[in-house]
Amino acid sequence: MAKEDYYELLGVGKSATTEELKKAYRKKAVQYHPDKNPGNAQAEEMFKKVSEAYDVLNDADKRAAYDRYGHAAFQGGMGGGQRGGGGGGFHDPFDIFRDVFGQGGGGGGGGIFDEMFGGGGGRDGSRDGADLRYDLEITLEEAARGAQKDISFRKNVSCERCDGSGAEPGSKRVTCPTCRGAGQIRRSGGIITFTQTCPTCAGAGSKIEKPCSACRGEGRLPKTTKLNVRIPAGVDTGSRLRSSGNGEAGMAGGQTGDLYIVLSVKEHELFERNGDDLYCEIPIKFTLATLGGTIEVPTLFGKASLKIPAGTQSGTTFRLREKGMPSLRGGRQGDQLVRTHVEVPTSLSSEQRQLLEDFAKVSGDANEPTSKSFFEKAKKFF
Ligand SMILES: [Zn+2]
Ligand SMILES: [Zn+2]
Repeated sequence: MAKEDYYELLGVGKSATTEELKKAYRKKAVQYHPDKNPGNAQAEEMFKKVSEAYDVLNDADKRAAYDRYGHAAFQGGMGGGQRGGGGGGFHDPFDIFRDVFGQGGGGGGGGIFDEMFGGGGGRDGSRDGADLRYDLEITLEEAARGAQKDISFRKNVSCERCDGSGAEPGSKRVTCPTCRGAGQIRRSGGIITFTQTCPTCAGAGSKIEKPCSACRGEGRLPKTTKLNVRIPAGVDTGSRLRSSGNGEAGMAGGQTGDLYIVLSVKEHELFERNGDDLYCEIPIKFTLATLGGTIEVPTLFGKASLKIPAGTQSGTTFRLREKGMPSLRGGRQGDQLVRTHVEVPTSLSSEQRQLLEDFAKVSGDANEPTSKSFFEKAKKFF
């Protein structure tokens, strides 16, 4: 089932200020407050929804993430949302969502690692692990052919000693003394009563009798993790790969976050990329340009031969079909565009010079097509 839009839930526009958000939230919170709607499950549900919406939109980082990615920004992060690979079973950890989030962001050097979104709390006091972002730089060749890359980074993983529970083996969970198991405490704030998550147990209603000695009750520990990343052919700067369940471990049984690998493709010495097309400039001898012939042209997939017709001018562009980048979405492969640059010799042997002088004499004045039309136009000015 699709989640409702947070802005719509609060009844505000996308450009709402913090003050407007607060006002809108207060109004909705009063309207759906469980105290005002005893036994009304629908109101309670709405109360939860508007609170969640406000929690996200009131946090500048989370709001920015939501604006950009929608609810996908918090899948797993806000509780709910399915995922695979979090628990013991290990199916293909790389359900790669090709370019799911399109272009944008990214850039930066390789191996920069930061947290994308903080995890939210679950009903049982668990906290879901944050999604992580890893910036990876690859070459154009790798982007064209696809690649396997080993990356390593530090992240919080589930503590082995307590199996992620945060409780010292053998110790139990006891009812939280602050909220007596309710997970929430009530506070009076003027006309209405606010319900607040219990600060002692973070809403769990229970707390650990004796925290795990290895992780100090967190249920997770930082660890360097190695991962083999499969990069599909056709990716570009800004492409994002999602590796399910390879983000931060959750706390106290919370879901594991995802890892997002954000790619950037290095500039190439020969090729410039424009979408799926590649572009390169190739110098050709003026004799070849005049007489025509065949040349060998480098492509990302080996050499290709290109026929240069007699009388080719400098700046003529030839198209090598399907020698460009493969299409990430399974469409037609791009082309390679070759722009010729006719080279004029800068030093001549006396024999070469003589031959060219003879050539000039035989040729007479400008009678080549481009020169001809140019001088015809220029005549008007003299
Ligand atoms: Zn532990
Ligand atoms: Zn409590």
